[in-house]
Amino acid sequence: MTRSADVVIIGAGIVGASIAYALGRRGIGRVVLLEAEVTLNVHSTGRNASYFLPIYDTACFSALAQASLPFFESPPDGFSDAPLLSRRGAVIAALETDADALAAEIAAARSSGVEVKSLAPADVAALVPIVRTDWFAAAAHYPGAGPLDVHALSMGYLSGARRAGVELHLAERCEAIETARGRVVAVRTNAHRYVCGTVVNAAGAWAAEIAAMCGARPIAFEPRRRHIASIPLPATGRPHDWAFFRCPSLPFYMKPEPGQLLASLMDAELDEPGDCMSDDLRVAEIVDTVERLTTLEVRRVTRAWAGHRTFSPDGAPVIGPDPAIAGFVWAAGLGGAGVMSSPAVGDLVAAAVDGSRAGPLQEQVAPARRMTATLEGRTTPAAGVA
Ligand SMILES: Cc1cc2nc3c(=O)[nH]c(=O)nc-3n(C[C@H](O)[C@H](O)[C@H](O)COP(=O)(O)OP(=O)(O)OC[C@H]3O[C@@H](n4cnc5c(N)ncnc54)[C@H](O)[C@@H]3O)c2cc1C
Repeated sequence: MTRSADVVIIGAGIVGASIAYALGRRGIGRVVLLEAEVTLNVHSTGRNASYFLPIYDTACFSALAQASLPFFESPPDGFSDAPLLSRRGAVIAALETDADALAAEIAAARSSGVEVKSLAPADVAALVPIVRTDWFAAAAHYPGAGPLDVHALSMGYLSGARRAGVELHLAERCEAIETARGRVVAVRTNAHRYVCGTVVNAAGAWAAEIAAMCGARPIAFEPRRRHIASIPLPATGRPHDWAFFRCPSLPFYMKPEPGQLLASLMDAELDEPGDCMSDDLRVAEIVDTVERLTTLEVRRVTRAWAGHRTFSPDGAPVIGPDPAIAGFVWAAGLGGAGVMSSPAVGDLVAAAVDGSRAGPLQEQVAPARRMTATLEGRTTPAAGVA
């Protein structure tokens, strides 16, 4: 059956949901959001650590996260009953070899107006009581960092979008994109054909596959697998008030939650789009590392999983109009920052769709930019000192 829409968004993860919300708020015609899966957030959006860090990975990701902060702190009325961000803070630790780089990061963060304090290792115990403090040389404390409620965020975007008239179709997979004279004219799914002038590619690890359907710029995205293990915490103290702890020099991070500790070795093995499977050996390595770096005795793992962090060849996100196919708009390559940068991504895509200016970030993430491969051979593409 043929239907019509002004904009079709492919993928209803956190990126597609934020775009649906931003388009709905701008009143951009009839918007349809397609999700191939039967339920929401089966892939990266349902498998992450959901942390907000004001300085993360690259200057571009940090700028997107910082631009998103006002939304998390003060979302529009009626967006969510639950707070989106809890300011529990984050500690970034560095080994001796990376101590100078961490000092430079602290100086750069301060000069961009981000609240950060330099800490001696012994001071970290007050913020993360289980961490041993004898193995790292320096630390930074970002008090404004904290866990995001990814469920509340996703539901807030989707219910706001629905109120604005956006249609969400689950179990509807985009199978083809039709073009005529170099512009998008329709999207075909397993259920319908949508005549439309604009398609937004928010398909996460599948972004390259969607682009190939219409001859848009071929971009060799890299889905990189990362494991997380959830480990029970003793029922003493208030672990959910502890700060997030991250040491990119190792690499390792841990996020305290009520009754549980989420831990990861920040692995980044190249993988294929699909259901990201976890490997027991990786989980055993996480347990071993937690026992070495903390005072925790691990008796069991409650749950372990893996998810994809998808990067463009130069590591920066790809957001905006395609240089070859008119009406094809990208929102992909959000790496390990898709949740913390989602409000800014929604705004950038809405600006690309309605043709308005969205500030200096637009050029840095433009799909037409020259992309020099920087990820080749790196196992931890996001392991800067941030
Ligand atoms: C272990 C781990 C930890 C992370 N920690 C953090 C963190 O602390 N903070 C943070 O901000 N980010 C974090 N991330 C990154 C974050 O999860 C991602 O950047 C974000 O979820 C990407 O969202 P997305 O919507 O692009 O992708 P997805 O959530 O994967 O959504 C893409 C959707 O597109 C759908 N789709 C694909 N093809 C089609 C098609 N043909 N038709 C219709 N639908 C289609 C898929 O089914 C999928 O639901 C982490 C990621 C991992 C794996």
